[in-house]
This record gives sequence, structure tokens and C-alpha cells, in this order.
Amino acid sequence: MRVNEIFCSVQGEGRYTGTPAVFLRFSGCNLKCHFCDTDHSSFTEMSEEEIVGIVAGFPSRHIVVTGGEPSLQLTSSFCRRLHEKGFFIQMETNGSFALPGDCQVDWITCSPKSAPVRIGHVDELKVVYWGQDVSCWEKFSASEHRLQPLDTKDEIKNKEILRLTLDYIMENPLWSLSLQTHKIIDVR
Ligand code: SF4
Repeated sequence: MRVNEIFCSVQGEGRYTGTPAVFLRFSGCNLKCHFCDTDHSSFTEMSEEEIVGIVAGFPSRHIVVTGGEPSLQLTSSFCRRLHEKGFFIQMETNGSFALPGDCQVDWITCSPKSAPVRIGHVDELKVVYWGQDVSCWEKFSASEHRLQPLDTKDEIKNKEILRLTLDYIMENPLWSLSLQTHKIIDVR
């Protein structure tokens, strides 16, 4: 498996905001979003056993498998090994690939980007928002719908986008707000 980094922090976004978690960031993605914050050029090739050995050394039993695009690398045997160590597996995906049917994860957070979503149902749909039309996502099969303001790295623009996001969810309460709280509290 091509691993970009493994670290422990708190989940900053979405339903599990504030939860202590181990982050397993895979390298490699089928998309090229301009706002991507993963360096896909650097990775370490690691076996499933090596990864499980490292992540099990942290106290948290909530693991966030993220990317890159984790569905390109997740396997059923890897998920089984994580479950054997007591992990709750949260996958953050762009949704453009269906997971193999025998690959068991406990929570799917899908943040759709420029490609069609091919996962039938997700636990949490998290759309990065900057004021675009998101009505096409309102019928998408998800237990929870969240809008997350785009981080433009420009404080003034970010405030405008946050205002747009709040206005939208107040008018359309199917949606709730997801903030990148790890940036607010300045942790990874
Ligand atoms: S889908 Fe995610 S990981 Fe892939 S390029 Fe876009 S932001 Fe980066």
C-alpha cells in the first residue's frame, strides 16, 4: 500500500468532529482538484501488517482512512485486520469508485469532486461549498448531508463563503454545516 502519512489527531470535519482519531493518508488519487492538500508524489510502500502495527500503537480506535483516494487501495483483508484490533473505520472518499463488496468499513464520508459518484449510499455526504448549485445532491442517498465552506486561503473570501453557506443551510435544512475545525484550533 502506498502511504503518504500516518498520524494521530482529532477529526476536524463532519459527524465525528472532535473525535480522537488515527489518520491513515494514502497516496494517489484519480482526480486532480486544485485545492487538494495531499502531496501525491511522496509515499512509502508499506504492507498491511506494517500499517496495522503502527496504527494499533495509538490509543484511539477510530481510524480515518483518507487520501488521496482510499478506495483505490483498501482491501477486505486490511479492513478485517483493523477490525480485529478494534478499530471503527471511517473512510473519506471522493465516491468515484465503488468499494469492493467484501470491503467492510463502518462509516463512509463522501466528498464528491469533479467525477460522478458511483457509491450507492453513504453515511455522510460532505460537499465543499462556494455558492454553487448543490440541489443535485439533495436526492443523493446519504444519512446526513453537510456543506463545508471552501477554504480559499483568503480570509475575506472565506468569510463571504461562510456567510453563503450559513444562508443556504438556514433555507435548506436538509444540510448542516461542516467546518474544518482542525484549522481553527491549529492542529493537523
Ligand atoms: S479527490 Fe481529494 S485527494 Fe483527490 S485530488 Fe481531489 S481533493 Fe485531492
